This record gives sequence, C-alpha cells and structure tokens, in this order.
Amino acid sequence: MTSETDGFPRIARPIASEHDEAFEIVGGDPRIGLVLIADHASNRVPEDLADLGLPETEFRRHIAYDIGVEGVTRSLARRLGAPAVISRFSRLVIDPNRGADDPTLVMRLSDGAVVPGNARIDEAGRRARIERFWRPYDRAIGRVIDAAFAAGRPPVLFSLHSFTPIWRGRPRPWHCGVLWDADPRLPEILLGHLRAEADLVVGDNEPYDGALAGDTMWRHGTRRGLAHGILEIRQDLIAEAAGIEAWAARIAPILTEAAGRAELAETRLHGSRTGPVPAEPV
Ligand SMILES: [Zn+2]
Repeated sequence: MTSETDGFPRIARPIASEHDEAFEIVGGDPRIGLVLIADHASNRVPEDLADLGLPETEFRRHIAYDIGVEGVTRSLARRLGAPAVISRFSRLVIDPNRGADDPTLVMRLSDGAVVPGNARIDEAGRRARIERFWRPYDRAIGRVIDAAFAAGRPPVLFSLHSFTPIWRGRPRPWHCGVLWDADPRLPEILLGHLRAEADLVVGDNEPYDGALAGDTMWRHGTRRGLAHGILEIRQDLIAEAAGIEAWAARIAPILTEAAGRAELAETRLHGSRTGPVPAEPV
C-alpha cells in the first residue's frame, strides 16, 4: 500500500503482532496515527523471581498492576485497528513508567507492603531487571512509533492507567483524570469531550501530576515532540467486562478525532515542566 503525504510515496506496512517476556505488541495499522500504551497492564512475575517473596493476594491489588487497563487497551486496539504496546510484567518487578535512573524504579515498599524480593536488590540486580524487562518494553514502544513515522506520520501517543477509588482512607472524587506535562494538544481534546459528559467528574492533572521526567510519556512523547497524554480511569469502573467495553466505546471516538487533527499529526517540541529535555536518548 502506498500513500502520498509529503510528495514521497511511502510503504505503509501493518505493524505485526509480537510478544516477548517483557511486552506484547498488538498489531495494527500505522496510518491510523495512534499508538496505545499500557505500562501497568500486567501483574505477572516470572517464576524464577518467586513472587518477589509476596503472598499471592498482593498480586490482585493495585500495587502489582493497574486493574482494567489491559482490557480497555485491547478493546481500543480492536475498535480502532490501532497498534498497542502492553507490558507483561508487574510494576513490582520494575516500573516501566519511570526513568532508568529513578530511585522508585524497583520499589522496596509499596502502599504499606514490604517487597522482600526487592528489599536487598543491589546495583547488578537492578541492572539485570532493566535489561530483561524495562528496556525490551521501552524499545518495543520505540519500534512501533518508528513504524508509524515510516508509514508517513508521527503518531499520537495515548497511555492508559487506572487508580484506586480510595487513597489513604479518603475516597477520590474523580471518575477519570487526564495527566499531562506541557504539550496540550491531546489533553485539551480528552478534557473537552470527557467534561462534556454530565455524569463524569474529570480531573485535570488529578489524581496525579502528569509531569514526570523520565516516564514513558516523557521519553517517547516529550522528547520526540509527539502529541501525547495519559488517561487514568478509576479502577472499579473498569474491573469488569461491561465497564471495560463502556469505557473503550467512550474513548475510541475521541481518539479517532484526535488522530484526525492536523496539529496532532506533526512533531512539536513543547519541553517539560520538569526541566530541560535532553535531545539524545537517556
Ligand atoms: Zn499506572
């Protein structure tokens, strides 16, 4: 298939499905101009890491993964025909949504639970987890983005997370939140549509601030000048199949509109509220 975008014919190969210990790429059409990303999709810990010394019950909790995110991401990929990159390891193994030098990359303590398999990890152990999990996942995202560029347009990056309804004893008021740093292109569209729905309380950089140097959006969106944003959905709303499909049905047309806007289909460097953004890979 060829397309004419800037006077040069390009070959638009579909992005193939692929998987590995660390990631899954759900294949899709790069010309759609979207890459779906699910950093905390999985609660899986490879057998040789012996559940990091934690009881199995901890892996059903939010500390191990973002409940509902894998289902919504797969449904979006199916509805849109867009590629998705889904992590296949628990964030307790290593957090793919942190920079490789972030002190919280391998958590010794998470929401009150000591993680025995991480408590005495040394620098070599940390490096080994980076090379085995963090880097292959990070490279998979980079490859899918490169494939979209090769097909003729910079993609919009949409990253999905979920949050707990109660934090430190307090109920959180939001149904969902749009998290972003300095590039307003995708966040404005997401906020505009979601806030127009009368039954939703939508956070703007709540429950977290989307500016985090070294996180997935910073590495792939901010550094490459791609339109990007995070949507956080309250986990109880997407814990079951009906909620998963309802949220995917709500988000899919918003992403289609975003991907169709000319200003989101170009690279623009907006910098970061966190400080200078190095041009070279870090
Ligand atoms: Zn998350």
